[in-house]
Amino acid sequence: MSTWWQACVGRAVSRRTFLKTGVCSLALLALPPRAKAVGAPDPRQGFVNPQPALYYRALAGHKISCQLCPRACEVGPGDRGDCGVRENRQGRYLTLAYGNPCAVHVDPIEKKPFFHVLPGTPSFSLATAGCNLRCQFCQNYEISQARPEETYNMDLPPAQVVARARQAGCPSVAYTYVEPIIFFEYMLETSRLARQAGLLNTCHSAGYVSAAPLEELAQVLDAACIDLKAFDPGFYRELVDGELEPVLATLETLRRRGVHVEIVNLVIPRKNDDPGAITRMCRWIADELGPLTPLHFSRFYPLHKMRHHYPTPVSTLEQAWDLARKAGLKYVYIGNVPGHAGEDTRCHSCGKTVIARRGYRVGETHLKDGKCAHCGAAIPGIWRPRTAA
Ligand code: SF4
Repeated sequence: MSTWWQACVGRAVSRRTFLKTGVCSLALLALPPRAKAVGAPDPRQGFVNPQPALYYRALAGHKISCQLCPRACEVGPGDRGDCGVRENRQGRYLTLAYGNPCAVHVDPIEKKPFFHVLPGTPSFSLATAGCNLRCQFCQNYEISQARPEETYNMDLPPAQVVARARQAGCPSVAYTYVEPIIFFEYMLETSRLARQAGLLNTCHSAGYVSAAPLEELAQVLDAACIDLKAFDPGFYRELVDGELEPVLATLETLRRRGVHVEIVNLVIPRKNDDPGAITRMCRWIADELGPLTPLHFSRFYPLHKMRHHYPTPVSTLEQAWDLARKAGLKYVYIGNVPGHAGEDTRCHSCGKTVIARRGYRVGETHLKDGKCAHCGAAIPGIWRPRTAA
């Protein structure tokens, strides 16, 4: 990889936290927190470039009802919505998360984690500050729970993202690290330009978005990695400050619109590791999205407000893997356990390994034009780069 881009969060971020959160790519860990590659725009503390927001309704008294996500915030003059990036200025609704990412990295696409999208390729990955959820176990809380004024942000408008992604040799752009829906307008415009330039658009999202903006985004989105945090509305209310139902609706919409979907379930001991609930979740995925939908069971590490909880035993992940297979899912993975055999992709038809992995590294592959080289079965996913429009 010839070029690495980095913008770092403005608040003090310890090296230990960088190591744990994964905000930084492995290749960047040797750099001091505020260093950047030669040629990258200088990150500036609090840089914002307010732009008109989409998806809202004007109410009486200059109030605004935000329609972007299920929180449906009512935002008074001078106030912001719960995500901290959408502001009502006397009835004008603006986003402060446009063209000012605080995290910009070239990551292996396996880190998203996408295991069925252009394996072994780099993905130009970015996020602004802010989030519309309050996960107590957030892996990237230092940027997700910050406002744009609190982070060091690059001046990186959509066209620049595309240019730099191409310069870095990335066949895809990934909107990730926080809930990218909160920088919806930036993601949408960048996605349109990226598609014209022949890049894939991918995102890692909690799926917490309203129906209309999701339909618009689905027109330019190629692949989505969606966190299904638990199959339990109580878990969502207690630990996420959200609701389960909108996430399921998002998954169904993406499936219907032909967006490639992979699901991540972070397994937290004693919180969402109940075998019955895992089985119900897997049956729902198999029935509603299809048995070939990739599902990643990911290991929890203590962080943020759950830093005193203990990590997920590998045996719990293996039990979840077994339950998912018994529920009919064919592509089940174990994540955050580098070197585990559960990282490999095995053909749903013949059971032989088609992509071997160790951590984010791709090993031997037995894929030919998206088909299993052993038996010829078509493996679900995106195996070819886009070409420019
Ligand atoms: S996007 Fe932000 S302001 Fe809009 S409803 Fe969601 S949390 Fe509230």
